[in-house]
Amino acid sequence: MTDYSTDNAELTMTDQVYGDDPLADRETDHYRKEYVSTFVDKWDELIDWDGRATSEGQFFIDILRARGKERVLDVACGTGFHSVRLTEAGFDVTAADGSAAMVAKAFQNGQARGLILKTTQADWRWLNRDIAGKYDAIICLGNSFTHLHEEKDRRRALAEFYAALKHDGILILDQRNYDAMIDNGYSTKHKFYYCGDQVTAEPDHVDEGLCRMRYTFPDGASYTLNMCPIRKNYMRRLLTEAGFERVRTYGDFQETYAEDDPDFFIHVAEKS
Ligand code: SAM
Repeated sequence: MTDYSTDNAELTMTDQVYGDDPLADRETDHYRKEYVSTFVDKWDELIDWDGRATSEGQFFIDILRARGKERVLDVACGTGFHSVRLTEAGFDVTAADGSAAMVAKAFQNGQARGLILKTTQADWRWLNRDIAGKYDAIICLGNSFTHLHEEKDRRRALAEFYAALKHDGILILDQRNYDAMIDNGYSTKHKFYYCGDQVTAEPDHVDEGLCRMRYTFPDGASYTLNMCPIRKNYMRRLLTEAGFERVRTYGDFQETYAEDDPDFFIHVAEKS
């Protein structure tokens, strides 16, 4: 069983930690300080899993089943939504995350649904140090990859994902449609409602190097995440340069879409 005791400070923190200028926090390592327990708990309370499951439908399950994939590594499990869902659908899932607080929460959420999730704490940049064996598929969902603020970290994480996959493995990685946010300007930004009308997610600040998303809850509490606004074609290029042979990009779970429309792009990258 994983020992989470070393990261207990995270579980009791109440405030997000930024420097004097929050916009200056463009560091990859910052993610552990952003996911404070109050934020994580509220998130899980208000974004009901059933609603999220309905909105994404069978998309990921269908992609994995169509390619005969069974052993799945969820490298950004967060509170465990996809790990639980895929385990319930019969996949052999390992739930991993760089934040021990998140891994603990995912484990609890699994238990609450009668599952004992296989969990591990692993930062993507050193993934293969902390996981065992090779996987049929890796999923990195919920706009997680855009927590990496430096290109060398993105390349390093992708190299680790690639190495953790079997020879015909696939990587499924999603991202917000930052192209639309950057190109259409701050004034025309639209609000992003994430699974229903309880939590509002909207960009607080957008430039080529930083997208600061603000999440506001019905009780007025609000939290931010500093993400790196990677463009769709840049991400596709990084995947190809990491060695993936084919990359197919879906927009909001559809194969065809107008570039500006989707809120999310989902890349499915095949190793061979
Ligand atoms: N996939 C989950 C979902 O969709 O609900 C969680 C998404 S949450 C936006 C991003 C997750 O990525 C967090 O749990 C965070 O701890 C994790 N993360 C960010 N950077 C990471 C890194 N370098 N290594 C491992 N995990 C990381």
